[in-house]
Amino acid sequence: MQIITVGFVYAVYENEESVHKILHTCSTKTDRTLDDGRCEYYLDVYSQRANSRRKSIQIIPWFVEDSQWIAEGDYTSNGYGNWEQRLNSTECINRTVFVGALHGMMTAYALARICHELFGDVEYAAIDTDRNKYPIGSGRVVFVNAHSYYAAVTANYLMIECDKFCKVIQIDPYVSDNVPCTGNNGQWCSNMGQYFCRSLKCMKYYCATCWDLNSNHLTTQTNECEPPAMVHKPLMRNARTA
Ligand SMILES: [Zn+2]
Ligand SMILES: [Zn+2]
Repeated sequence: MQIITVGFVYAVYENEESVHKILHTCSTKTDRTLDDGRCEYYLDVYSQRANSRRKSIQIIPWFVEDSQWIAEGDYTSNGYGNWEQRLNSTECINRTVFVGALHGMMTAYALARICHELFGDVEYAAIDTDRNKYPIGSGRVVFVNAHSYYAAVTANYLMIECDKFCKVIQIDPYVSDNVPCTGNNGQWCSNMGQYFCRSLKCMKYYCATCWDLNSNHLTTQTNECEPPAMVHKPLMRNARTA
């Protein structure tokens, strides 16, 4: 076994029981600025190299239920059979943002709360996880109103400051993989919309051909005076839970 004195390491246990065991031996700290009802766990370890010098390491578990947050209220009855169907509907995707560069300790609840405070009501938030159900640093937020969605997309970057970390997170429109191409100049196109233009002037899906045909996309030089939200920039489908 390699002993790492600086940095971090991931440990995947074979059984969930082991996670409970390790957390039981940890000391806890309940006050944290994220204020999401969770606490921090610290484990005392003795380094063999440094003559049994005690070192406190932080153990960061991920509670599976923190991957998803759903606002109170019966949104499912709104014409959809279940949440998955609702979230994948065009109507919902048009109010969904992709959030990247998230801190590993950010819960769906905390993310929803931050977005609510800054941009408006949120109905759903999710943290993307890997096959071990551990967060991978991205997520999505569904706003109640399109107005909040546009405010978030226009902000593009968000600085989150708390006692533990300070991190700039990235907000982009959430890109669906089953929207047809918008076409060019009102001409119908049978291709799938592989690229989403995040410029507030477009906010549409295009296939590679129609992207190039669009006169707004001809110039490769960016206009310095143009606000970032107006710049034509292709987005592809975001990472999502496997
Ligand atoms: Zn096309
Ligand atoms: Zn565009």
